[in-house]
Amino acid sequence: MRLPRFDHMKPESLEVSLAFLEMSGKKARLLGGGTDLLVRMKYGLSRPDTLISLKALPELSGITADNHGNIVIGAGVTLSNLAKNPIISEKIPVLKKAVLSVASKHIRNMATIGGNICLDTRCWYYNQSQLWREAREACHKTGGSVCHAIKGSDRCHAINSSDTAPILAALNASLRVVKKGSERFIPVKDFYNNNGFQHTVLAPEEIITSIAVPSGGEPINAVFIKSSSRKGLDFSIGSITAATKGNSRKCALLRLVVGSMTSAPLFLEKTAQLIIQSGLNEKSIEIAAETARAELGPVTNLFTRAGYKRDLIQALVKKCLNDLLKQMKAKRS
Ligand SMILES: Cc1cc2nc3c(=O)[nH]c(=O)nc-3n(C[C@H](O)[C@H](O)[C@H](O)COP(=O)(O)OP(=O)(O)OC[C@H]3O[C@@H](n4cnc5c(N)ncnc54)[C@H](O)[C@@H]3O)c2cc1C
Ligand code: SF4
Repeated sequence: MRLPRFDHMKPESLEVSLAFLEMSGKKARLLGGGTDLLVRMKYGLSRPDTLISLKALPELSGITADNHGNIVIGAGVTLSNLAKNPIISEKIPVLKKAVLSVASKHIRNMATIGGNICLDTRCWYYNQSQLWREAREACHKTGGSVCHAIKGSDRCHAINSSDTAPILAALNASLRVVKKGSERFIPVKDFYNNNGFQHTVLAPEEIITSIAVPSGGEPINAVFIKSSSRKGLDFSIGSITAATKGNSRKCALLRLVVGSMTSAPLFLEKTAQLIIQSGLNEKSIEIAAETARAELGPVTNLFTRAGYKRDLIQALVKKCLNDLLKQMKAKRS
């Protein structure tokens, strides 16, 4: 498969990138490492006239600790550099674990955290060659008005497979997003729409410059588990992140976020509330895992059967909460 023709710009400042972006309008796309976008272009799923590379932007680089207790990660930092960074290893090891679960070393050397956050949603009927897709009517995501995955559905259910999005949401991270003349800060939990066609709230003229992950105050215990069909170089078929403050008898806060099963990271609020009320113990974990199964709500048969997804989430929640309990006990002793 060949890449179509396009213009390539490599500005050296954020200001110039924003000016190019505004000038090119919807015909331009931002290029991080290209490990998602270039593949989509080869498949004819994205047809930009111009790619604006973010690689030379100093404003998107580096990992620092700010004065408000946040770790600030430049959106252009590659996943390999993120995993190698001593601040991340020390303060947010769970993020390092998730990053190292993405694809392969070669892809992580190219891929950026900004690109991973914006990773397009995936569907078995969409991520196919043009010839394959042309054998069917166009669906919501390709400009039509039907869904092949859920017959009769009025929206797209393609899946958000980013491995870092659920963690960043669970850690209450927020994104700094800029466009010419203004900036805004978006909590990761509000960044995604549960709609596979337009899965983020990012406008075409906006760039994510950095991600702020709170790391101050009480220490956070966190666990991430990813399940995939193969051990390496594979997208997740379901992941779970748990982040908590407090101790096993009284979790002051618990966020449980499911990845790769819906179009946006999914918060299991009822399940988390149950643990907050009864504490983390063998019995409450069993009940929580059962609750998560029901709380998952309607899920698609995309990539794996809906019934399998329910079994998987039950098993993942159980393992994740048991690992969290072990982590908390180890820190106490
Ligand atoms: C074989 C294979 C296996 C993979 N396995 C996994 C996996 O296990 N887990 C996983 O999470 N992903 C996986 N991926 C997907 C992808 O490689 C990663 O998500 C990667 O992190 C994307 O980053 P990138 O910098 O290459 O993004 P790009 O391809 O450069 O960009 C992706 C999208 O983000 C936008 N974008 C990039 N940076 C910014 C920014 N700063 N501001 C605004 N928009 C921006 C681009 O315009 C584009 O729409 C896999 C890909 C392949 C090819
Ligand atoms: S979920 Fe439906 S609308 Fe979305 S890409 Fe798949 S088939 Fe198309």
